[in-house]
Amino acid sequence: MLDFNQAAALGQAIAARQVSVREAAEQSLKAVACQKTKLNAWITVDPDQVLRQADDVQRRIDQGEAVSPLAGVPVAVKDNISTRGLRTTCGSRMLADYTPPYDATVVARLSRAGLVILGKTNMDEFAMGSTTETSWFGPTMNPWRPGHVPGGSSGGSAAATASGQVLLALGSDTGGSIRQPCAWCGLTGLKPTYGTVSRYGLIAYASSLDQIGPMALTAGDCRILYEILAGPDSRDSTSLPDSPLPADCKLKAWTGGAGRPLAGLTVGCLDDAAPVQPAISAARAAAIRQLEALGASVEPLAMPLLDEAVPAYYLIATAEASSNLARFDGIRYGYRPDDADVADIGDYYARGRSEGFGREVRRRILLGTFALSAGFYDAWYLQALKVRRLVCDRYAEALRRVDLILSPVSATTAPPLGASLADPLAMYQSDRYTVAANLTGLPALALPFGQDSQGLPVGMQLTGPSFSDRLLLAAGEHIQSAQPVTHCAVDGEVSA
Ligand code: GLN
Repeated sequence: MLDFNQAAALGQAIAARQVSVREAAEQSLKAVACQKTKLNAWITVDPDQVLRQADDVQRRIDQGEAVSPLAGVPVAVKDNISTRGLRTTCGSRMLADYTPPYDATVVARLSRAGLVILGKTNMDEFAMGSTTETSWFGPTMNPWRPGHVPGGSSGGSAAATASGQVLLALGSDTGGSIRQPCAWCGLTGLKPTYGTVSRYGLIAYASSLDQIGPMALTAGDCRILYEILAGPDSRDSTSLPDSPLPADCKLKAWTGGAGRPLAGLTVGCLDDAAPVQPAISAARAAAIRQLEALGASVEPLAMPLLDEAVPAYYLIATAEASSNLARFDGIRYGYRPDDADVADIGDYYARGRSEGFGREVRRRILLGTFALSAGFYDAWYLQALKVRRLVCDRYAEALRRVDLILSPVSATTAPPLGASLADPLAMYQSDRYTVAANLTGLPALALPFGQDSQGLPVGMQLTGPSFSDRLLLAAGEHIQSAQPVTHCAVDGEVSA
């Protein structure tokens, strides 16, 4: 809907006074209103608040304040990221009336950089899911084909961006929730190195796995947004100082060169026997050709433990979730049942939590509580932590042999609405290619690579060593300058 395909170009037009901040905000608001019922990408948009922010940013630009290259550009924020004075629901009935009294660090950084927070996007409840169908506010549709899911859990952010309502969005990624919806909606998205982007104000799902990251049409826009988000934060005890790549990291020597900018890079292509759709194999072959044409050398890479990574992830994620979600008791936080008998506190908790949480969230709290319970802890949670350690070691070894790892994001393109929730274990297995980056903390970038026979986008993933986020994004930019990204037009037509 916006007349621009890239946030950087819109930012330049605003800086050059060709477009006012209010005009950009109004265009986005108009697109939101048009697409509202078709896609259900948003949970909360407050147009008055948006226009007030827009006027304030315009004033700062007019006064010559050094803002950022994205000043005045509207951005979507996933609804598990706290926004002061703007409802933040996590896609749950539990928090349907919650308005945070403070901003997440990433939100404060966006505002300081002059971006306009357009609103809060739909998501799987508490970020648990892969399709954006578990939201209390109803499912989001894929703009490429509205009968299909957009992926999840950051599906609202992906649908809003792919349909051009905004050019930039924030997602959160605990086991793939930035990369997989980006892949299924034809976008670029980064799961940053754990600790490089503050989690302060992100409502926790699984704290040792969660990361906030950028989603956009291109790697170039993701890079500019990442620069605004990243950096240490004293309010997040797991946030890390800006760290250079270790001295023995081969990637450090990569400088890029005209014509063959990926020359000198070795890319290991994940060698996995698990079946993928033909469109995914075709995208993998296209990605290999593209990387080689840009000068990289590509070799097969065996990666043991792929089968074990998904169960380890689901044990750790649900264990941490069962602890994080204990605070929603209807007293300190969360939904309060109207007529419950508070004389029996156990009953009160049970009523509030059964009514406030949806089925998938309840399932995961039960699973996680079980994995942590006395007598079972050693057999399940501790075992999963050992597998996590082994996965980290294997990836570290692999990244001493190759610079980057190429893999699919997902074995399929976006399934039709309603096809995934009936079989939770099958849905969990669909995270096969994404969970390792969260278990290890490594950065991973999803890039669009063509479409399947129904016109649904396919994504491929590049994983790099810790702190290689900027190099990954630079590699993505080289790939996209050789082969421009295809955009989804809101009326269903595809444009290059
Ligand atoms: N699909 C995964 C899960 O349900 C990942 C979710 C996420 O990254 N937030 O746990």
